[in-house]
Amino acid sequence: MGDKLAKQILESTRPFVIAGPCSVETEEQTHTIIQQLATEGKVQLIRAGIWKPRTRPDSFEGIGERGFSWLKEACQQVNLPFTVEVANTKHVEIALKEGADVLWIGARTTVNPFAVQEIADSLKGTQIPVMIKNPVNPDLNLWIGAFERMQQAGINDLVAIHRGFSVYKHEVYRNVPNWEIPIALKQELPTIPLICDPSHIAGRTDLLLEVSQKAMDLNYAGLMIETHPNPEKAWSDAKQQITAKGLTELLNALILRTRQSDNFTTEELELFRKKVAELDSTMFELLSERMKISELIGKFKKDNNITILQEEHWKNLLDSRLKLAHELQLSSEFVRSILDAIHLESITRQINVMNK
Ligand code: PEP
Ligand code: MN
Repeated sequence: MGDKLAKQILESTRPFVIAGPCSVETEEQTHTIIQQLATEGKVQLIRAGIWKPRTRPDSFEGIGERGFSWLKEACQQVNLPFTVEVANTKHVEIALKEGADVLWIGARTTVNPFAVQEIADSLKGTQIPVMIKNPVNPDLNLWIGAFERMQQAGINDLVAIHRGFSVYKHEVYRNVPNWEIPIALKQELPTIPLICDPSHIAGRTDLLLEVSQKAMDLNYAGLMIETHPNPEKAWSDAKQQITAKGLTELLNALILRTRQSDNFTTEELELFRKKVAELDSTMFELLSERMKISELIGKFKKDNNITILQEEHWKNLLDSRLKLAHELQLSSEFVRSILDAIHLESITRQINVMNK
């Protein structure tokens, strides 16, 4: 890439679009999808998997090195750069030799500091841009650690890709988004552009627009979306890939709200923010008061020699609070997570009182 990728992404109109097949399969498939994407004219960087980390060994594990010639030729014909996933030194060496413009580190690699370090070491002295997917497990520090390993190796053209976190059998997502983690990453590493990969979050095409819209509303810089000339026939991730035309439709359907600049605030928004600040302050005062009462309860339990956790009481409390939450139009999932956090803190306070 002529320009530094991170800079190019941050300066381009949102969303910066990365698209292409989950995997390189055949010469024809590679040429077809890249031609189609170029004709649609929305994509800035082609993605394609040459080596595929698959959960089960009997799945298609990628076409390997020979796929590069198809990918390179197809991209040259339409004058687009391309990116591939690398998971070890060998992949890095081949990808560099074959002229990949950008590399990406997959979610199954980001979890492993040895693997990330190995990749960082083999990239020393190069200027290639690297995109790092979040680790499969929801661990912000592991994700940050991968960026630090690259930076320490002198690789500074870095991009973050949010692809969601694995869970066992989720009824909606293939990988739950946990939006708070990429938001926290952005706070920690504000100069690194954040891209959303709705394909791997959703795992199915009917959710792609919703997830992409959310990413845009959270001010993500771009999207990475898997596309295939014939999605249902794809050799990997068939359920989540869309056609090049489908990609255009999705992008056209996005509502792009303005990115707020430092000197832009409307009075109305300011008023809402003031109100929110007041409510947060009231909420914290109430929580502080509530925790003081938890400590009094802890003292009472200590004096009377009774256990902190009273299961029956906790169950009744939950039932009554969830009922109240419902009446107040708060989702039970949301209220449950708040109650769990409050309960945990209350137990910690009581333990401190008891063992003083
Ligand atoms: C991919 O992008 O095709 C891929 C393997 O992704 P992830 O690392 O997010 O699972
Ligand atoms: Mn995939």
